[in-house]
Amino acid sequence: MSYQVLARKWRPRTFHELVGQAHVQRALVNALDQGRLHHAYLFTGTRGVGKTTLARILAKCLNCTANGRGDEGITSTPCGQCDSCQAIDEGRFVDLIEVDAASRTKVEDTRELLDNVQYAPTQGRYKVYLIDEVHMLSTSSFNALLKTLEEPPPHVKFLLATTDPQKLPATVLSRCLQFTLKHMPPERVVEHLTYVLGEEGVEYDESALWLLGKAAEGSMRDAMSLTDQAIAFGQGAVRHADVAAMLGTLDHRHVLALVEALAAVDVQKLLAEVAQLAEQGPDFAAVLDELTAILHRLAVAQMVPDAVDNSHGDRAQIQQLASRFTAEDIQLYYQIGIQGRGDMVHAPDLRSALEMTLLRMLAFRPQGVPKPPATPLPLRPEPAPSADATPAPAAPPSAPVLAEPAAKKPEPAPAAAEAEPPEPAVQAAPPSEAPEALEPQYDAPPPWSLEEVESAATLCQSQSQSQSQSQNPLHPLMWRLPLSRLNRWPREIS
Ligand SMILES: [Zn+2]
Repeated sequence: MSYQVLARKWRPRTFHELVGQAHVQRALVNALDQGRLHHAYLFTGTRGVGKTTLARILAKCLNCTANGRGDEGITSTPCGQCDSCQAIDEGRFVDLIEVDAASRTKVEDTRELLDNVQYAPTQGRYKVYLIDEVHMLSTSSFNALLKTLEEPPPHVKFLLATTDPQKLPATVLSRCLQFTLKHMPPERVVEHLTYVLGEEGVEYDESALWLLGKAAEGSMRDAMSLTDQAIAFGQGAVRHADVAAMLGTLDHRHVLALVEALAAVDVQKLLAEVAQLAEQGPDFAAVLDELTAILHRLAVAQMVPDAVDNSHGDRAQIQQLASRFTAEDIQLYYQIGIQGRGDMVHAPDLRSALEMTLLRMLAFRPQGVPKPPATPLPLRPEPAPSADATPAPAAPPSAPVLAEPAAKKPEPAPAAAEAEPPEPAVQAAPPSEAPEALEPQYDAPPPWSLEEVESAATLCQSQSQSQSQSQNPLHPLMWRLPLSRLNRWPREIS
C-alpha cells in the first residue's frame, strides 16, 4: 500500500474541516444555503493556504447527490459518500475541469477550453472550471476568457485561484467574487499539527511543532510537508532537537543565555556566550533575529503576562526574565537590535556586527539611577548628632534601607574610616550599583534645602516613573528628580 503524504491525506474535505479561513467559509456556506451563487470566484492567497482545497470543496457542494436530497439541492455540507463526492476527492470527476494555467498560457489553449463550455455537464449538476495560477495566462487568453467569464451558461461555474492577484487584468477582477485567504499564523499551524499528529499516533514535542509552524511561514501545506520530513528524520517521532537540526534552526538556549547576560549587564558573560556560539558556526544574523524576537516576547510578557506564547516551551523562563528588565531597556534593546540587523550588511564580518550590537545595547542603556546618599536628606541644617532619629518622619518608606548605612557609619568613624567604606561597595556586586563606589561624596551630608529639591522635582515627573521601578532603592524625595540632574547633581549643587 502506498504512503500518502500528510498534506494530501489531511486535505480538508468539507468546509468544517477547513482551518483558519472562517471568513471565506462563512460567505460560501451562506451563499450555498441561500442559493445565491455567483458564477465566478477568485481565491487569492499565498501557497498552501487552501485555495485549491476550497475550490474542490465548492465543486463538491455544487455536485453532491447525497441520499435523500433532490436533484435540485446544492448543499453546504457535501456528504463525501456519493459518487460525485468520491470522484471529486479522487480527482476523477469529469465535470470538474482543473486547468493549470501555468502550463496552458496560450490563447489556443483557452479557446479549446471555452469551446466545451456550452455543453451540459456529463455527470454532475454543474460544470466547474478550476483554473489554478490564473495570473500566468497571456493577455490574449484573458481577453478570450472575458466574455464567457461575464455571462457563462447557467450550468458553468468558474473558480480561479492565484497567488498573485496584482497580475490579473482589472476586467477579470471585476467579473469575479474575490476571496483573500489568510496566512496561517504559527498558533493555527501548531493547533492543526497537534490534531493531525494525535490522529496519526505520532509522538511529538510541542516546541518542535512551534519550530515547524514558524518555518512554514504561513503555509499549511509547507507545515505538513515539513512534518512529514520531521517524522522521517526522527524515525517516527517529532522531537525538538531533530526538528531544529533538520531546519538548521539555532539552539534557542544560546540566545536565551545572551538575554540572560543582558539582564545581568554582564559584558564578560555576553562575549563568552557569543564565542561559544561562534564555535557552532551559526548564522549570526539569525541569532540577532532570534534575540529581537525574544525581546518582543519579553515586552509582551511585561505588559500582558498571559499573552506570551509558549513557542519554545520557555514561557516560564520568559516571564521570569521579563521581571529583570525595565520596559525602557527592552524597547531600547529591541530598537538597537533591529537597527544592528540592518547594519549587518555593511559590517566587515557578522560576528563582530553581532558583538557590537550587543555591546551597544549595554553602552546606550541609561546609567541606572545613582544610589541614594547613605545619610538621609537633612531637613534642618544640623542633623549630625541624631542621624538615625530624624529620617523616620521624613522618609518612612525607605527607612529600613537608610537606617542600616546610617547606623553603620558612626561605628567606624572614630577608629578606622579608610578600611570600612570599600567593603560594602565590593559586596554590592551588581554593576548597576557601581555609581555609588565612584561617588563617595554622596556620604557627605548634602547641602541643599527642601525647597531646592522640591523645585527640581517639578521639572520632570514623567521620567520619574521608570526610576521608581528600578531596583535601586531611592529616597522618596529624590525619585522625583529628572535623570539628567540626578547624574550631575552633587557637583552642580556643591
Ligand atoms: Zn456527496
